[in-house]
Amino acid sequence: MPTSTARVPKRNKRELEKHRRLLEQKKAELSSELAKARTAEEESNDESTQDIADKAVSSYTREFLYSLTDGERTVLLQIDEALGRIDDGTYGFCLNCATVLSDKRLNAVPWTPYCVDCQELSEKGLLEG
Ligand SMILES: [Zn+2]
Repeated sequence: MPTSTARVPKRNKRELEKHRRLLEQKKAELSSELAKARTAEEESNDESTQDIADKAVSSYTREFLYSLTDGERTVLLQIDEALGRIDDGTYGFCLNCATVLSDKRLNAVPWTPYCVDCQELSEKGLLEG
C-alpha cells in the first residue's frame, strides 16, 4: 500500500518528542523574556521624571531591547514553524535542499529550517524565496 510519505525516512519518534519538548521549552522562555522586554520598554518610555543622563541610558537600553526582541521574535516564529513541521512530519529536513538535518544540528538549534550550507546561503541572502 503506497503512501505519499513512503519515500521520506521516518525520524525516531522519541527523538521528535524530545525536540518538541525542547522547542516548547525555548518558546516559553522566549515568550516570558519578550514580555519582560516589553515591560522595560514601556517603563523606559516614561521619561517625565528622568534627567538627561537617565535619558541617554534609557535610549541605549531601548535600542538594545529592540535588537534583542527582533532576533527573539524571529526565533519564536521559527519555533512555531518547527512545531508545525513536527506535526506534519516534515521536521528534521532542510527546507531548501531537503537534506536530513543531523541530530547534532537539531540538538544545537532545534528550530532551524536549514542545513548548515543553506543557512549560510540564507544569511548571505542567496536563498530564493
Ligand atoms: Zn540545505
